[in-house]
Amino acid sequence: MQRGEQLYAGKAKSVYLTDDPDTLVLHFRDDTSAFDGEKIAQLSRKGMVNNKFNAFIMQQLEKHGIKTHFRELLSDTESAVTRLDMIPVECVIRNVATGSLCKRLGVEDGLVLEPKVFEFFLKDDARHDPMINEYHIRAFGWASEDEIKKMTELTFAVNRTLCALFDAGGMILVDFKLEFGRAKGGLLLGDEFTPDGCRIWDAKTREKLDKDRFRRDLGGVVEAYEQVAQRLGIKVD
Ligand code: C5P
Repeated sequence: MQRGEQLYAGKAKSVYLTDDPDTLVLHFRDDTSAFDGEKIAQLSRKGMVNNKFNAFIMQQLEKHGIKTHFRELLSDTESAVTRLDMIPVECVIRNVATGSLCKRLGVEDGLVLEPKVFEFFLKDDARHDPMINEYHIRAFGWASEDEIKKMTELTFAVNRTLCALFDAGGMILVDFKLEFGRAKGGLLLGDEFTPDGCRIWDAKTREKLDKDRFRRDLGGVVEAYEQVAQRLGIKVD
């Protein structure tokens, strides 16, 4: 699988066309950004770690019956995925309160959420990804009724699978964001899953092992990602 013309360059990954119209190549770069691109840095090895981390997680999800866009690892920093018609909505599940939930509602940081909280956001950087609900999605036609139901169910299914995986490695999956897209056969998970798009805490110390280390200038960002990988049994070098 050879990568062709660049289709799109995101903040941390670039997407390329291939000779197969149904296949894209994702290139995970070392770039890191936070706060809608206001804070940017290059973190050596991050692209490689995230590419291999994502491949492992996608394979685990497939094993548990969750269909994803992931096809195969192509190199240290590239993976082949199925081309999707993306739904412009972000699905977030929160097992523990932190981040924007605490800012918005003033609730205690670190509070275990029961029931777990599910939220939709509109994927729109210029408007800082505003929070929306299913009525907005229906009214503006961003997704169908069936797609709303499937995105919700699939995000909870991912949460169940991954909570168990992180728990076995002595970690808490605090929250994460997912996006979905339409393929010929129906809705697929169309996002990468890496410590850039989720929060992971050590179960005993609650030490942050995810992109909050970058957002909060805690240092050791890639080292933390590698520690998480190692605790999940992922080989990243
Ligand atoms: O910022 P907030 O607390 O709403 O983020 C919830 C979760 O979604 C975090 O794990 C964060 O990393 C992820 N997220 C993301 N991309 C966004 C917004 C949130 O990966 N655009």
